[in-house]
Amino acid sequence: MKRLKIIKKPKSYFKTEPNMKDYDKTRRKFKYKDYYSELDFFKGGKMNAAYNAIDRHTMDWRRNKLALLWVDDTQEKKYTFREMKNYSNRFANVLKKYGAKKGDRVFHFLPRLPEIYMSFLGTLKTGAIAGTMFAAFGPEAIRDRLQDSGAKFLVTNRELVKRVYKVKRQLPALKHIFIVDDKPRKKGEINYWEEMNAASRKFKVAEMKKTDPAFMLYTSGTTGKPKGVIHSHLAILHEHMTAKWVLDLHSEDMYWCTADPGWVTGIAYEILGSWSNKVTSLIYAGRFNPAKWYEIIEKYEVNIWYTAPTAVRMLMKSGSKLPKQYDLSSLRHMLSVGEPLNPEPLYWGLKVFGLPFHDNWWQTETGGILISNYPSMPVKPGSMGKPFPGINAVIIDDNGKVLGPGVEGNLAMKPGWPSMMKGIWKNKKKYNKYFLKGWYISGDKAMRDKDGYFWFIGRSDDVIKTSGERVGPFEVESALVAHPAIVEAAVIGKPDPLRGEIIKAFVTLSKGYKGSDALKVKIQKYVKKHLAGHAYPREIEFRANLPKTQSGKIIRRFLKAEEMGVKLKDLSTMAK
Ligand code: ATP
Ligand code: MG
Repeated sequence: MKRLKIIKKPKSYFKTEPNMKDYDKTRRKFKYKDYYSELDFFKGGKMNAAYNAIDRHTMDWRRNKLALLWVDDTQEKKYTFREMKNYSNRFANVLKKYGAKKGDRVFHFLPRLPEIYMSFLGTLKTGAIAGTMFAAFGPEAIRDRLQDSGAKFLVTNRELVKRVYKVKRQLPALKHIFIVDDKPRKKGEINYWEEMNAASRKFKVAEMKKTDPAFMLYTSGTTGKPKGVIHSHLAILHEHMTAKWVLDLHSEDMYWCTADPGWVTGIAYEILGSWSNKVTSLIYAGRFNPAKWYEIIEKYEVNIWYTAPTAVRMLMKSGSKLPKQYDLSSLRHMLSVGEPLNPEPLYWGLKVFGLPFHDNWWQTETGGILISNYPSMPVKPGSMGKPFPGINAVIIDDNGKVLGPGVEGNLAMKPGWPSMMKGIWKNKKKYNKYFLKGWYISGDKAMRDKDGYFWFIGRSDDVIKTSGERVGPFEVESALVAHPAIVEAAVIGKPDPLRGEIIKAFVTLSKGYKGSDALKVKIQKYVKKHLAGHAYPREIEFRANLPKTQSGKIIRRFLKAEEMGVKLKDLSTMAK
């Protein structure tokens, strides 16, 4: 790949001094224990993540500061830290009334409504375990998660509960269903707001051990059946520190994370780590729409914007003229997560907003950002950045041997950071599989360069072996996306008798382009020239859309299965 220009940040770049001023210095001395003082603990070292996210900020003037600014296409709702504390206390009381005990699972199946945030926090306050699901899930996906977790309580609405009833008979553990927008109509249903209004706003928060489970969440299902990942109350320590140093949250910030709370990003950086840093969190509950997004940034003067590569690519597709119609000068820091961020949209962001998107890498299992580009550090486009201080990340071979710079291998970490998963629900065997010779294995292939920056290559299963060469899908996709005709690209290895595999690309086209054989040849030439002679797609297929998870990740395994004529059983995580 062509060497890309490093994005340096002159002094004038910084409107506000970053929270972490010197990465190397911070990293050298970093111990999580030294940062316990960033949190509040009860006697005997007990704690509660919800208390740390919200309640502790209600002891001073901040009780009247805006915590949640909720916006959809027709209205705005505002909640201060005091109100979030009181509403979550009320829900904790309601749960107790219906017999919730420590360790019970309470799931949320709702669109992005304020109730999710109140109830999630309220659940943690009782010592029960909170879980979330995307509102777009169908009956199968709901059944898998509620059945596996044995959830006893569900918070949902009249519309979505219909899908739950389709599989209700297979959910014997599910006893109580809170409906947020309607009266009870069936046995087991409870009127959420009637109970909330009748409940006390005072609640004695459960004092939990640091390792006690706080929430559980199913992975995105990009590579297979989703896994039920368990996180403890102390996860908030890493989430707090990363929100402070990676997202660079300052308490006066207007912070907009576009993730859905059905995804781990929505939990770690919309509820726990972000509120722990006292910011105002903006939630936009409407549909994706470029003009609306720019309008939100302008209207609410968003300072920190945390989004995902697909969103950036879609904004890019809608053109550079549109953002010029808005005053976006409030933006101070922009970030992206969930998939590799191709250099092309990063450069586009730089041109349009005057700021680069900062890529960062993590997983549901890691509970928080582990590798990142930091405000105070130059950005190498296409790299996920450097390990968070306190994280020992390495590249190892299949036998657990640590590899040096420039060598492709398995991305792995030394276990033990506070937000590392505490287990996979009811699946010890699966959990154990994550570890090899004292390392946590991420399942991703990557490379570290001599400056310590990490480069994502692909999911281990997605790396293509063609004519004796290994090719990472990410670099081919990045070369494709750099072509003006292409908006999004997914490449897979297609079995080939001669070459082992050949590279096949599925691409969506920019406005004004039509798929043709001539265009295929042009694209192939372009990739050969910009990447490498052997790493170009021998086959190209034009598509109107690429299959994606609810969190917007391209699901290459679907494309591969289709290509091979295999019928996949588990399609439950695919966005329709
Ligand atoms: P499943 O584990 O069920 O297949 P998933 O891995 O997509 O689903 P998540 O935990 O949501 O579920 O996603 C983590 C994965 O997303 C990482 O392992 C990595 O492959 C990808 N990812 C996240 N952020 C980045 C990034 N900045 N660059 C490259 N890949 C990323
Ligand atoms: Mg995964």
